Amino acid sequence: MLKPDLQQQLETTLEEIQSNGLLKEERLITGPQAASVQVNDSDASSGKPDGQPDVEVLNFCANNYLGLANHSDLIAAAKNAIDAFGYGMSSVRFICGTQTIHRQLEQKLATWLGYDDAILYAACFDANGGLFEPLLSAEDAIVSDALNHASIIDGIRLCKAQRFRFANGDMSDLRAQLQAAKSAGARNIMIATDGVFSMDGYLAKLPEICDLADQFEAMIMVDDCHATGFLGAGGRGTAELLGCQGRIDILTSTLGKAMGGAMGGFTCGSQQVIDLLRQRSRPYLFSNSLAPPLAGASIEAIELVSSPEGDRLRNQLFANASQFRAGLTAAGFVVPEGQHPIIPVMLGDAELAQQMSAELFQRGVYAVGFFFPVVPNGTARIRTQMSAAHSSEQVDTAIAAFTDVGKRLGVI
Ligand SMILES: *Cc1c(COP(=O)(O)O)cnc(C)c1O
Repeated sequence: MLKPDLQQQLETTLEEIQSNGLLKEERLITGPQAASVQVNDSDASSGKPDGQPDVEVLNFCANNYLGLANHSDLIAAAKNAIDAFGYGMSSVRFICGTQTIHRQLEQKLATWLGYDDAILYAACFDANGGLFEPLLSAEDAIVSDALNHASIIDGIRLCKAQRFRFANGDMSDLRAQLQAAKSAGARNIMIATDGVFSMDGYLAKLPEICDLADQFEAMIMVDDCHATGFLGAGGRGTAELLGCQGRIDILTSTLGKAMGGAMGGFTCGSQQVIDLLRQRSRPYLFSNSLAPPLAGASIEAIELVSSPEGDRLRNQLFANASQFRAGLTAAGFVVPEGQHPIIPVMLGDAELAQQMSAELFQRGVYAVGFFFPVVPNGTARIRTQMSAAHSSEQVDTAIAAFTDVGKRLGVI
């Protein structure tokens, strides 16, 4: 039993979250992840559907960019891997947790993305959490974008290197912070940035970042979770799209978004970087090996995104994104410019975002409100994400629902 004092403190915090309209609730999906999903969450807190029939809603909030989360080829590959390699590993990699498919997947990722080697983690959160501390020490410096993902921030906290932060996408501030790191006598400097900033769908300014890195002899790490598989002509991510392939020293990304959406993360880099991470990276050394079906299906996912079918899915995804952006903008919504399939609809107020999300849901459109602390205070929004699995008609249905609800709530 917790001490009553602590129970009371936790209760007070929960009540604060609730009364500020910041409580995040989880919907219960009763079938597979897809462009449209069955939901039955009349009593989400119990974890049990309450006997009401499921409702079917169009899903605009999964990271299922290429529609691979329930793709028959990946399901078949996962089943084959279970048959051949079993269900779980029950071991970290270095004791008895490395199967041929783990090394195959690492080598395939490295070759595809243009690096010497790759190392797998249970999630990209772990890849980022275990990246900085083994490579950099107190004589070094990390210069980090202010809007980087929580896992990069945590990874940097675990490392002894000096920390410098630049305003999101602000290249003159990046230059100033690189200068400050140099002046502080840093031996090695690493610039850390998301390839795509997930709350806005903004891309890192990689060409300028690469030029500054050259000028200051700094290294670059990019976290490409919202890009791997679908940005760039071959789906190799932000660097491919922006013409910076070969200029990014270290790449981290996930298998849990466009690449099938199950689980797993990885880091790509030079042989020395990957070899040292295998020796020293704590989430790798002290955490279980990726399950065989995930490794097997991820190998298939790379095949798929590198094939003509991958091109077709990317074309569909970006056609959907431009249709949705154009429709919302024409209706009068505030939508930041861009091409990325992350399309935020800016509202400002957290409760308005919650209410709009609830009303959209009633009209069969599943799109979630984001607010503090996930985004800065006063910038609440509904973040939508397009998928190649959506049809053009489904995108139109969503535009119509947003327009109706937006008018009703006085947003447009
Ligand atoms: C989703 C995400 C992660 C975490 O990836 P997981 O594999 O789900 O742990 C890390 N960084 C960024 C930028 C992300 O969007």
